[in-house]
Amino acid sequence: MQHGGIAEKGRRLMTDLILPQCGACGTVIYPRREICPDCLSDDIADQTMTAEGVLLARVDLQHSLEPYFQDHMPWPTGTVQLKRGPVMIAHLVNGALTTGAAVDIQQMMDIKGRPVMVAVPLGSPTFTWADVEKGRQI
Ligand SMILES: [Zn+2]
Repeated sequence: MQHGGIAEKGRRLMTDLILPQCGACGTVIYPRREICPDCLSDDIADQTMTAEGVLLARVDLQHSLEPYFQDHMPWPTGTVQLKRGPVMIAHLVNGALTTGAAVDIQQMMDIKGRPVMVAVPLGSPTFTWADVEKGRQI
């Protein structure tokens, strides 16, 4: 299955991620850097790629310095191994997601309008921040 955003009927455009990729060796680079960490090439360009991955680990945060999160503890967070290589930290939309689960990364705005990454069960519909809050109560 190819992930082409709008070219793929029935899937959200935001199931794709745009991440930098090295033109010399193909390494997907996250977090963003000016040179490739594998071959030191500066031939780096943004590429659209699948947002699918696997939940490597999860933790239910018990403390935060952010007042919003202080009122919503525990807050599930995890690390996701993307199919294209990088590992990213994401909020978990579903408090029941367990290690090894197939997930998509969805990009959305949090309660303060900041862009965040949220891991959702693979194939899920588009979520909003309000859904993230509800999912935590499962
Ligand atoms: Zn490279």
